[in-house]
Amino acid sequence: MGRVKERYNRRAAEQRFHPVYQPVAGDRCIYCGMPSHGKLDHQPPVYVLHRFADGGLITKKAIRERFGECKLVPCCTICNMGLGAFHGRDDNERRREIANWFLVDDRYPEDHFVMELGRQLLEKRLQGKRGGEIYEFPGVGRVIYLNALFGFIDGDFNCPEEFPTWLQIAQTELSEWLGAEPKRKSKYFLDMANLASYDLVVNRRAKLTPDRRPILTPLL
Ligand SMILES: [Zn+2]
Repeated sequence: MGRVKERYNRRAAEQRFHPVYQPVAGDRCIYCGMPSHGKLDHQPPVYVLHRFADGGLITKKAIRERFGECKLVPCCTICNMGLGAFHGRDDNERRREIANWFLVDDRYPEDHFVMELGRQLLEKRLQGKRGGEIYEFPGVGRVIYLNALFGFIDGDFNCPEEFPTWLQIAQTELSEWLGAEPKRKSKYFLDMANLASYDLVVNRRAKLTPDRRPILTPLL
């Protein structure tokens, strides 16, 4: 008798594969360094294991042989949305996937202005000339996320404690602003990525990530 292809039920799959994941301790997102507020990312995504099992039985050994150790890592809501069901080779490839959503979209020339305005607002905030309202502007969030993600990718720092002071301040303030209202984080991801809805794009690759890092650091 042939196997029946299982429909993907995220909750059921998470329960099924839960025992293979080893939790990694920490309260900061391993991709960007933002506070994770207890949120976790499955490495590899549960969906990937679901596909690998292909509706049949699968052993922990077979999973380990194919994917290495499966980990449950601290991850902020925004990076989690940026990853969707993406399974990269390593954390830097996953960071590139997340950054992909926030880079300047060359199809829209005005997007360069959005990013530059974000950088300038952040600069003014760090100089004390603007208040915390600047975080409402998604261009500000994009500048913060891109600097954190590319800083890790390029090896400028390896943990949030090594961040430049401006990035530590900006992340702390952004995190406070994001946490001030329910659902604000997921809405902000959509705004930063110029998306109307998340469901439409879960498995879509956005833009191609350039090799070079965008120059977006606030000039202080
Ligand atoms: Zn993150």
